[in-house]
Amino acid sequence: MIIKDLQITRQNTLRDALTRLNELGTGILLLVGEHGRLERTVTDGDLRRLLLEHNQLDRLLVELPEQKSTVIEEGYTRRQALSLMRERQVNQLPVVDDAGRVTALLNRSDIDEQVLLSTPHMGDTELEFVMEAFRTNWIAPLGPNVDAFERETAELVGVEHAVALSSGTAAIHLALRLLDVGPGDTVFCSTLTFAASVNPVVYQGAQPVLIDSEPESWNMSPDALERAFEWAKAESRLPKAVIVVSLYGQSADMDPILEICGRYGVPVVEDAAESLGARYKGKASGTLGQFGIYSFNGNKIITTSGGGMLLAPNAEMASAARFLATQARDPAPHYQHSTIGYNYRMSNILAGVGRGQLRVLDERVQARRAVFQGYKDALSDVEWLEWMPEPEWSYSTHWLSVVAIRQDAAKSVTAQRLIERLSEEFVEARRVWKPMHLQPVFADAPSFDHGNHSVSADLFERGVCLPSSSHLSADAVNRVVDTIRSMR
Ligand SMILES: *Cc1c(COP(=O)(O)O)cnc(C)c1O
Repeated sequence: MIIKDLQITRQNTLRDALTRLNELGTGILLLVGEHGRLERTVTDGDLRRLLLEHNQLDRLLVELPEQKSTVIEEGYTRRQALSLMRERQVNQLPVVDDAGRVTALLNRSDIDEQVLLSTPHMGDTELEFVMEAFRTNWIAPLGPNVDAFERETAELVGVEHAVALSSGTAAIHLALRLLDVGPGDTVFCSTLTFAASVNPVVYQGAQPVLIDSEPESWNMSPDALERAFEWAKAESRLPKAVIVVSLYGQSADMDPILEICGRYGVPVVEDAAESLGARYKGKASGTLGQFGIYSFNGNKIITTSGGGMLLAPNAEMASAARFLATQARDPAPHYQHSTIGYNYRMSNILAGVGRGQLRVLDERVQARRAVFQGYKDALSDVEWLEWMPEPEWSYSTHWLSVVAIRQDAAKSVTAQRLIERLSEEFVEARRVWKPMHLQPVFADAPSFDHGNHSVSADLFERGVCLPSSSHLSADAVNRVVDTIRSMR
């Protein structure tokens, strides 16, 4: 919409105004006076009233009464604009500059559009698989979609055995159970992560030991891990497992981590909930430890609305996982149980969604990487921003686009202030995960820093996750970029 087209003066006729409204279909015109200053807005209704007062179509608009129109000044936030529109019950709002000239016309439907952090993005085939499940009445936590989803996921990442489950958390839990983690045991886990990585350790009655990040990948520090092992060895209490998290779509530096764990003979569970589609030295993230897990929660790179996958090292472990995930029913002619199981299997309907999503995973990865690159390019000259690094051995999906504030260069900008400012523009942004060693619930867990300070605590302090959906519009990216640029 070009503002000039909306402008009329009192020297225009009623016919001019009606014709213009008719052509533009905006429902509003701008009556301007001297120096293009806005006098008032003119709506359909205003013109209708003039007609009803027996004005002829060739009457000049001098007849229009003076009226103070609702406007907003440049420098407004979306939140301010929307609340003004709500208060005055208008759907359009002219923006005026210092001289009272209109520079833009805001539409309510555009203004209140939210930009969310990470939303589901369906492809073209999900519904077909779901309908097939309906058609064949496979509405159960097993069925052909489940089998196929497992097979297709395994093929995609290049492993033999995958088990579809109700969540990524369930997958971690089963991995620990299969590794025989129990009361009195310890399990090492990355500290910079979502609570779901660590909670299953406690479900099993074991104690977590929290390992810091290193600055190159923001993932588990081999240095901190080594020191944790030295401590554990001195205490004669080696962990039963090490849960290595791959954060925000980026693999951890697995080679040194696997070397250390191998040296101590401790198995690795790769929490790749956020990094399906990522690679480490060409290998699929999630396939490097003894066990690997993916999540298909609604906010992840591909989703089944809720679900997870366990990658198992062999057929025995995979079938043990399926057994435990279906209430541990013994093969007997009646209901018989000799161990405690769970209800953790994925439904055949949701597996159908997953099969469709797998087919677009590559596109989704490309799109998320492009979102990250878009931010980075557009803000390359903003020296107080430090983008999540991508080491040369990493191919990150950039599930989330993450940036840290360089406190030395930022003057007054903090992570929290940036998030609040974005929220004023209806942009959802979040802090980087609060490390587990700083969580009240894990206050008693031993933790090991990288070198002499906590890298994860620093990233939590400074880090912000920006909107990262694979179908994020260019307008949305611009809104984020402009908002960040407006901060100092
Ligand atoms: C999402 C997530 C999980 C849990 O996955 P759910 O499917 O939601 O249970 C585990 N670990 C990390 C790092 C995650 O981001």
